[in-house]
Amino acid sequence: MTDYIIAIHGGAGTILKSLMTAEKEKLYKVALQDALDQGIKILRNGGSALDAVVHATSVLEDCPLFNAGKGSVFTHDGGHEMDASVMNGSDLKAGAVAGVRNIKNPVLHAKAVMNHSEHVFLFGAGAEEFARKERIEFESDEYFFEKCRYDQLLEIRDSDQVRLDHSNTKFGTVGAVARDVGGNLAAATSTGGMTNKRYGRVGDSPIIGAGTYANNNTCAVSCTGHGEYFIRSVVAYDVSCLMEYKGMTLQQACDEVVMKKLKNMDGEGGLIAIDKLANCSMVFNSEGMYRGFQDADGRNEIMIYKS
Ligand code: ASP
Repeated sequence: MTDYIIAIHGGAGTILKSLMTAEKEKLYKVALQDALDQGIKILRNGGSALDAVVHATSVLEDCPLFNAGKGSVFTHDGGHEMDASVMNGSDLKAGAVAGVRNIKNPVLHAKAVMNHSEHVFLFGAGAEEFARKERIEFESDEYFFEKCRYDQLLEIRDSDQVRLDHSNTKFGTVGAVARDVGGNLAAATSTGGMTNKRYGRVGDSPIIGAGTYANNNTCAVSCTGHGEYFIRSVVAYDVSCLMEYKGMTLQQACDEVVMKKLKNMDGEGGLIAIDKLANCSMVFNSEGMYRGFQDADGRNEIMIYKS
């Protein structure tokens, strides 16, 4: 049996092969592979699942192709408000930040909240004050400026629409889940949220139990999709609960939540999950989801569309 394994996602949504060029596809695959390679290296060297998911997520945050960190979508006000969370399955410790601006890697910020504060969830200016104290890296507005993201905002800025960053030219939230050699599970998720969001809108990604959850007794989960539905369905925790209380396998639990419960309420998106036995499920009810996994046996897969 494989002992360590990592899975990542770069967002789910309307990702159609017919609209994708070979060059673009290659860029995404290279970026996903890089994150997987860096994550598995940590696990191979005996590092923790927590360190692996945080690092793999930060690699994706640094890549402008994805809606997190550098590639975050624009808010209605023309800024960036980012959300992120991490959870450690061995002790159920968790950290999260929401609505933070100019933080280079929100996932590192979330990890600092978990490790260096007595709190779980910080938001806005207070979270940024904590980041300064923790010497978390900040970046200028220019660092976060991506023209295609700005064009996305201009398309809908004068309307009340908020839009998922999930079309073929604009990509989504990132996350990772892992099991380390010690059998510990961890999950991390990071996002810029939805284009044109306002009023301090926060999605599922930083909410423990909705967008992120990890418990050594069941599974680690990271979600992507229309956050409002994922919050209402408490998606990540629901997967864990179906395993814990109903005895479902990981795949059954993921199918139940994503393909039945979410789908029945028109909640578009998907998730990646790994269980305590190192099984991996990557389930989505949208056209596609950027995703991949790598394990101790050398299995390595990267996928974008429905297979
Ligand atoms: N779940 C994220 C949110 O609603 C968006 C995404 O997955 O791309 O903020």
